[in-house]
Amino acid sequence: MSTYERCPKKVVDLIRKVMVKHQPHLKAAGVQVAALFAYAPRDKNDNHKGSAIKHGGYAAAAVIRPAPPKLRALGVGDAVLIIDGDHWIEWSEAGRAALIDHELEHLEVVWDVMPNSETGYEGLPQLDDLNRPKIRTRLHDWQLGGFDAVVKRHGEAAFEARNIRSLVDDFGQTLFPFMHAPEVAGRVA
Ligand SMILES: [Zn+2]
Repeated sequence: MSTYERCPKKVVDLIRKVMVKHQPHLKAAGVQVAALFAYAPRDKNDNHKGSAIKHGGYAAAAVIRPAPPKLRALGVGDAVLIIDGDHWIEWSEAGRAALIDHELEHLEVVWDVMPNSETGYEGLPQLDDLNRPKIRTRLHDWQLGGFDAVVKRHGEAAFEARNIRSLVDDFGQTLFPFMHAPEVAGRVA
């Protein structure tokens, strides 16, 4: 079983920074995020066995969930973010910020009145019994999964190939321009 530890202040500060910069709606609603590091169990040589976090059966760098009512009542926070503490040290500051932003993007405040930065009026989040902002989970815009063997057997007819092609066609130029940069391609090759 994984073990857990409250994230240090440096990580909590980074979460706050990312929220202010990229997720102003969460900030406006006063969403509190509790953060934990998860560590995979160790074998007798102190090597970690597998991944600290699994999501849908796959290793994940982090997961986030709206906090259940009992944790909210205990004042833990409105959402619980769990980060792979075994690998955090290996990630750049930019990578860490991008990971936190990804997780925060999963949180969708349920609004009575949407905040509007142009007209300047305050947003009004719907509140639960504890007067905490209601939060839903936002699903990914896109999701990739596939099998090498199926693509080998079915080629272009494989849904894997179709999904990847549609992603590149729809978003390739805008979402992943760096994928086409020769210097990046050179570095990863
Ligand atoms: Zn995600």
